[in-house]
This record gives sequence, structure tokens and C-alpha cells, in this order.
Amino acid sequence: MVKICCIGAGYVGGPTMAVIALKCPEIEVVVVDISEPRITGWNSDRLPIYEPGLDDVVKQCRGRNLFFSTHVERHVGEANIVFVSVNTPTKTRGLGAGKAADLTYWESAARMIADVSRSDKIVVEKSTVPVKTAEAIEKILVHNSRGVRYQILSNPEFLAEGTAIKDLFAPDRVLIGGRETPEGRAAVKALRDVYAHWVPDDRIITTNLWSAELSKLAANAFLAQRISSVNAISALCEATGADVAEVANSIGKDSRIGPRFLSASVGFGGSCFQKDILNLVYICECYGLPEVATYWRQVIRINDYQKSRFVNRVVSSMFNTVAEKKVAVLGFAFKKDTGDTRETPAIDVCKGLLGDKAVVSIYDPQVTEEQVQRDLAMNKFDWDHPRHLQPMSPSGKKQVAVSWDPYETARGAHAVCILTEWDEFRRLDYKRMYDAMQKPAFLFDGRNVVDPDKLRQIGFVVYSIGKPLDD
Ligand code: NAD
Repeated sequence: MVKICCIGAGYVGGPTMAVIALKCPEIEVVVVDISEPRITGWNSDRLPIYEPGLDDVVKQCRGRNLFFSTHVERHVGEANIVFVSVNTPTKTRGLGAGKAADLTYWESAARMIADVSRSDKIVVEKSTVPVKTAEAIEKILVHNSRGVRYQILSNPEFLAEGTAIKDLFAPDRVLIGGRETPEGRAAVKALRDVYAHWVPDDRIITTNLWSAELSKLAANAFLAQRISSVNAISALCEATGADVAEVANSIGKDSRIGPRFLSASVGFGGSCFQKDILNLVYICECYGLPEVATYWRQVIRINDYQKSRFVNRVVSSMFNTVAEKKVAVLGFAFKKDTGDTRETPAIDVCKGLLGDKAVVSIYDPQVTEEQVQRDLAMNKFDWDHPRHLQPMSPSGKKQVAVSWDPYETARGAHAVCILTEWDEFRRLDYKRMYDAMQKPAFLFDGRNVVDPDKLRQIGFVVYSIGKPLDD
């Protein structure tokens, strides 16, 4: 009987395993984590992450064949397939700091697997890792094996936060990379059999290990590159009077380009795009490919430029200062339908405004005050406005506040900035907001969710990304 254990109950491990448990009722799936609050959350009615449809999936199989536990070693020891879905952030110090992936969590998971295993295991890389990581993991496992045999597979996850359950139910593809040996092929088949419960055969791709590892980094780099490409065009649109939506629509009709992922915005965020491109840059440098590294680095530079361009637009439009002015921020999550704020552009935008002494009031349907305060305190803000974040404005007003009501957030504000494309922001009563704001009332739409003409009719001075500007 197959028993699966997944190390890491995060945004990937939790939903992925819940869907495997739902689709494979005969397989026992245990998700383990060293974080007790996370596991307590997964075992409660308030799951630790917000993802549409997730509650329902978890409710159907939790306690049946899906379990969440902090007994990491016990469940790893008992499993025959061990997924590793731990975090792989960017290294903050030492060799490769600021670019390379920090594989500390991975290495400690691998050493723990070797420590507790008494039977043969398939170890699956679910986390996004640098190409050739499987080689390092193999070394750790083999050198500590005590007679246990391991097969390492790469099975990167392509889900997008906000649509994770939909993506897992009907993936564009499932990618499995393994060794081209009889044992490797058997391991690939064992994992393929799990996915075959619901994924059509032609959507399960098998490759060699290195292709699978590299494909994940390449996929994220291509997706982020598309956003930076359209954002680069948006800057040119603003300078020339072209409209980025019209340009995107025109180029997206070309079947070689396609219409998806062509929305101009304040920039991409999330825990993956930037970290994975930085990692790709580092790998290219390590393999002596500086020109290739520079090419991918530029995707991040454009993203940083887009965020600083947005802040500069806000400040310059508001008569070159936002000091002491209340700015309402609608949306703090890095995208709609998630409460995840890792690397959200809202952090950089808020810090930019705070650096110019604005008073910032934030509303996001899924983000708490605690998260906002932590994010604004943690992330460094070092472009354009090198001043340190101050908790109070000179007049003694609290400089950052979080509200649970969008109208309250905008009351008395000089400007509204839309930073996440939540559907509810398309339906707000902007007339009501306008009436409660200082005049002139500015609206800076970092996600192009509102109709600028309608808002201009209300009286707003509007800035939308890549659209013709107000006079
Ligand atoms: P996360 O931070 O939400 O979850 C990782 C979990 O691993 C944490 O709960 C942490 O406590 C746990 N952990 C770390 N070391 C552990 C150990 N030794 N034993 C047990 N638990 C341990 O991260 P995530 O967003 O789920 O991402 C996980 C991986 O998947 C990353 O490599 C990421 O790049 C990749 N990925 C993420 C997404 C996404 O949308 N978030 C999509 C595809 C791939």
C-alpha cells in the first residue's frame, strides 16, 4: 500500500497533498511540518492559508486519508513516497547572497529522511530547486543510507496561488523527472500512477532529472518576463499616448504570442518569480554564462523600475509631495484571491510613500494588520527614498493603519492607490469614496481594474498603468 508523507505544509504542500488525498482515497497522505501553528491551523476550521475551494477539499478528506502532523520523523519513516515541499528562499548571506537559493531547509529535510528511514523510499522534489539539486540530495542520502535505497524524482509544482485548487484539479501538465535507470523508471511510474488517478495521460510529462528541475525555473522566468515585457511597453504608452490595453490586445491576437499574462500592472510579486529568476541568474553565472545572466536580471530590473515609477507618479501628481497626506491603499496581497503578501509590490509602494512621509491607510480583504506591520518593518526599502521608516508622522499621526472597510480607508484621503486586482474593487461605490475624500481626489490604479473614464466623470484625477494621462 502506498503511503505518502509531505514535508512542508505551506502554500504548495498543503493544497497539493489535499488534492492527492481527495483523488486517491486508497492512499494515506500525511503532511508534516516543524511549525506547530501551521499544523494546528490545518487541523482547525481556519486553515493557515486562504485559497478558493481549499476548505472544501480539506473537509472532504481530513481524518479519512489526509492528516496533518508535527510528528515529522515518524511519518517520514513510515512513508514510501516522501515529497519535500519546504521553502527555498533566496540566500541572505554568504556565497551567492541575494541570488542563490538557500537550501538549508532542504538539506536538513534530506538528512532527517536519511536518519529515520528503515525502508526504501522515493524522495520527490516538490520545492523549486536549482538544477542539479537532486545530485546533492542523492549524495546526502546515499552517504547516510544504512542499506536503504532511494530514488530521487523532480516533480516541480506549477500551481498559481489564488487558483491553486483549480490548477491542481486540471493541471496544464504534471512534470516528473527521474534517473534513466530501471530503478529510476520504476520510481517515475510509481509517481505517475498517483497522478493518473485524475490527470490525463497526455498531460503527464516525464523527462530526465535536470530537465525537470530546470523547467520550473525556466517557466517562472518566462512568466515573469512576459509581465516585465508588457510593463516596459506600458511606460512607453504613457510617454506617447498609446494605450497598453489596446497594444496588449493587438499583440495577444497573434497566436504565436497569445493573450494571457499580458496585463500591465504596478509589477509582479509573490514568493517565487523574483527568487527563481535570481536563482537562474546565479546558476548562469556559476556556469560561466554572464550574458545569459544579464538577460534574465533585466526582468527583475524592469519590475523594480515599474514599482518605483508608480511611486514617483503618485508623488509627482500630488504636487510633488505626499507629506502628511493620507493615501488609501486598496489591496496588499501580491495578487487577488490569496492572503499571501510575500514580495508583494504593495510593500515597495507603501515604503516609497512612507519614505515621503505619507500617512498610509490599507484595506485588503485577506490581509491582517499584523501581516502588514511585519512586512513593512521587515523588507528593506533602498531605492529613491533611503530614509528609514518612521512609525509616526511629524504631526504625531500613526503612519500606517489597516482598516477592514474600504470606505473607511478612503475617508479623508487625498488619494486612493489600487495595488491588488481583487474583484470587489471593480464593484466599489467610487462616488461614495470620492465624496468623503480631500479634493482634488486622486486615484492611482496599479492594476487597471477601474474604468478611468467613469472615475473621471465622478471627479477623480486618474492614473492607470500604460494609459493616456490626465492633462
Ligand atoms: P511555505 O513557506 O509556505 O511552506 C514551507 C513549509 O516548510 C513551512 O511551513 C516550513 O515550516 C516547512 N519546513 C521547512 N523546513 C522544514 C523541515 N525540515 N521539516 C518540516 N517542515 C519544514 O512555502 P511554499 O510557498 O509552500 O513553497 C514551497 C516550495 O514550493 C518553494 O520551493 C517554492 O518556491 C515552491 N513553489 C511555490 C509556489 C507558490 O505559489 N507558493 C508554487 C510553486 C512552487
